[in-house]
Amino acid sequence: MQEKTGIVSKVYGLYYTVKYNDEYINCVLRGKIRQNEERKIYSDPVAVGDNVVFSVNDDGTGVINTILKRKNIFSRKEKGKNKREDIIACNLDSVIIIQSFLSPSLNLRFVDRLLVRCEKEKISAMLCINKLDLAEKEIIQYIKNYYSRAKINLCMTSTFTGAGIKELKNFLSEKTSLFIGNSGVGKTSILNYINPELNLRVSEVSKSTNKGRHTTANVEMINMNDNITIIDSPGVREFGLMDIEPHMLGFYFNEFNAYLDRCQFNPCTHDHEPDCEVKRQVNSGKIFTDRYQSYLNILYSLKEYYERQYE
Ligand code: GDP
Ligand code: ZN
Repeated sequence: MQEKTGIVSKVYGLYYTVKYNDEYINCVLRGKIRQNEERKIYSDPVAVGDNVVFSVNDDGTGVINTILKRKNIFSRKEKGKNKREDIIACNLDSVIIIQSFLSPSLNLRFVDRLLVRCEKEKISAMLCINKLDLAEKEIIQYIKNYYSRAKINLCMTSTFTGAGIKELKNFLSEKTSLFIGNSGVGKTSILNYINPELNLRVSEVSKSTNKGRHTTANVEMINMNDNITIIDSPGVREFGLMDIEPHMLGFYFNEFNAYLDRCQFNPCTHDHEPDCEVKRQVNSGKIFTDRYQSYLNILYSLKEYYERQYE
């Protein structure tokens, strides 16, 4: 039987859609792969973005025989010892973290957790804050200050006025990017704006909670114009970083990097240790205080988690 190489564009239960040129083939996974010990740490051995070798049956359905080596994975690690790693997508060029200024309001703590994951996996990140039409000047300036020293791409958009979309599109061009954000921020509206032919359904923000209606959907790869490939993920709210040891966290706040070798202690968690260069730079204003607070917030949650492991 002839084998072909394609890319997984959708995962649903035990079935996988594999894109091969402009065809979409419904596939199952060869049993041997599911049984593979190395893959048992994952909740599903195949993820959207995987390059796979498959063969096609007479009825047009396919069987995935091999999963090719991954460039990177973006996963959500769950709490608890026996929880398996849930891969959201793999083989990414960038991750676009989408937030909105209002309805739902901005959550920089959540953004910082996602940025830590991107830094750890060495995937370039962009923070896209939508609903710019609702933003006040002060908050725009605050966000610029907050990330001024962190090397991240920042873009502010509005699908109502079109502001910032061109910049976003330029960044997305020629890349495979994961769109991640809680529901209601305007992810679907942005996708429609970039590619009107998509005509995806936009949800109404529910007035009582401002959270947007919860729509259950799967992770899905969408090929768009200008060689833009988006992997759209359903609203992610929980996001663990339990695989990161507390003393390593500072390495993933990239504006700390220039100072790390000047801390007296090694390793230093930049918290209680004396003669800490990171704390000095917070005091001098080189590191933004609220970003440092966000660091401490993650640090304490990791410390608590690791202490419980050794009880
Ligand atoms: P998703 O859940 O992230 O996919 O969000 P949707 O695209 O479904 O949009 C949620 C709500 O936000 C809808 O009521 C949209 O009309 C609204 N919305 C989307 N973009 C903007 C924007 O730029 N400005 C404002 N004010 N509202 C927006
Ligand atoms: Zn330090």
